[in-house]
Amino acid sequence: MVIGAGALGLSTALHCAIAGRSVVVVERHTAGSQASGRAAGLFKSVQADELRTRLARRSITRALTFADWAGVPLPVARSGSLLIARTTRHREYLAQELTQSRRWGADVREASRTELSYYQPAGDEYALWCPEDLYIEEPASLIRACLAACGRLGAVVAENEAVVGIPVTAGRAAGVETERRSIAAPVVVDAAGGWVRQVAGLAGARVPVAPVRHQLLITEPTAQIDPADPIARIVDAAVYLRPARGGLMVGGFESGPMPVDPDQQPAAFSTDDMPLDLGVLRKLAGQVAAETPVAETAPVAEHRGGLFTMSPDGRFVTGPVPDLPGLWVASGCNGSGFSSSLAIGEALAAWITSDTPPPGMTALAPGRFGPLTDDVLISRGLWQYAHYYDPAGGAPEAAGPDR
Ligand SMILES: Cc1cc2nc3c(=O)[nH]c(=O)nc-3n(C[C@H](O)[C@H](O)[C@H](O)COP(=O)(O)OP(=O)(O)OC[C@H]3O[C@@H](n4cnc5c(N)ncnc54)[C@H](O)[C@@H]3O)c2cc1C
Repeated sequence: MVIGAGALGLSTALHCAIAGRSVVVVERHTAGSQASGRAAGLFKSVQADELRTRLARRSITRALTFADWAGVPLPVARSGSLLIARTTRHREYLAQELTQSRRWGADVREASRTELSYYQPAGDEYALWCPEDLYIEEPASLIRACLAACGRLGAVVAENEAVVGIPVTAGRAAGVETERRSIAAPVVVDAAGGWVRQVAGLAGARVPVAPVRHQLLITEPTAQIDPADPIARIVDAAVYLRPARGGLMVGGFESGPMPVDPDQQPAAFSTDDMPLDLGVLRKLAGQVAAETPVAETAPVAEHRGGLFTMSPDGRFVTGPVPDLPGLWVASGCNGSGFSSSLAIGEALAAWITSDTPPPGMTALAPGRFGPLTDDVLISRGLWQYAHYYDPAGGAPEAAGPDR
């Protein structure tokens, strides 16, 4: 039983179905309609620690071979990516990432050039070339592929049906209650994205994540952009860029992000109700305007956003919920939940179906933090968001062992 048909819920459901389990996914709105359908679709092999590198690279492999193991085609742009630094501190940081990512198995090299149709270098950049990186042009295509693959294996995805209760019987989560019915299940996976805490709360459990707004824009098409160009991440500006629909996608990580607690919103709150602020993206685009003027000047064709679930140490929150057997969680996306979903779903399904954690996965279990107040949870989550490309930027006290 999976609650939420975003990338994490659908991937977990698909992998449980592949393992021969009977699976029902219940989704309050429509599949992929919240964070997953609004993602930039970027997959990134360079990560801040070995476990995340392994999961990110596994997801890249799973995306490239999706048709082989899931039986459904998945369109993928094998673009590669550039990580670009323009300050001394960020040059040093990228040099460190080069060494450690190679040690952890990623194919990363010093880039011989940084010139792109949409990025004219100043000349003093230091850049890494990451040939393994890719993107999925329209995030809905991953959702559609997972839905089709689930359908082939008999997994049921019930849309427009909200979970309103999680009954606990003899100390175990025993299924879900929706607005319309009760469904008994020995395993319940909370994959409710920005609502993961509210859903866990239905069973009296607590999941340590803080939802934070993230936005991107896509410019109108322009002949200036070569659609075959790679992804570029300007790490000192915390900005990412890629070709999209004939224009340029511009997103980034502002230093003063906005936490959004669905508990403080009306009960029907969905991503469509979340206020967007183009000013945030304009400011980020301004930081790369010298090299990428089109990011600042081209008319905007689409502006979208949704919720990240940030955790106190920037790592996924995935595994069994402490003190409540039968309840599992797939969350703590920290901005990488779309791209890591294929590996996270695979690992979580293996954990659930074999009752044995795959190597390294206990480090992501939701019980690892101990008690935290909401204020601490939010402030650490905001710090992780603001340092997405820049975890070297002065870790807060107790931000986590790897930061
Ligand atoms: C603008 C933007 C760009 C991003 N870019 C990237 C990127 O390039 N790469 C990357 O890896 N990640 C990216 N992300 C992050 C990524 O989108 C998320 O990490 C990922 O989609 C999270 O998936 P999810 O399944 O946890 O959440 P969601 O997709 O939000 O799915 C959760 C689902 O649970 C449902 N739900 C909630 N409550 C209930 C209930 N009571 N009953 C039933 N269903 C319920 C919701 O309706 C929702 O559909 C981006 C996010 C945003 C907003």
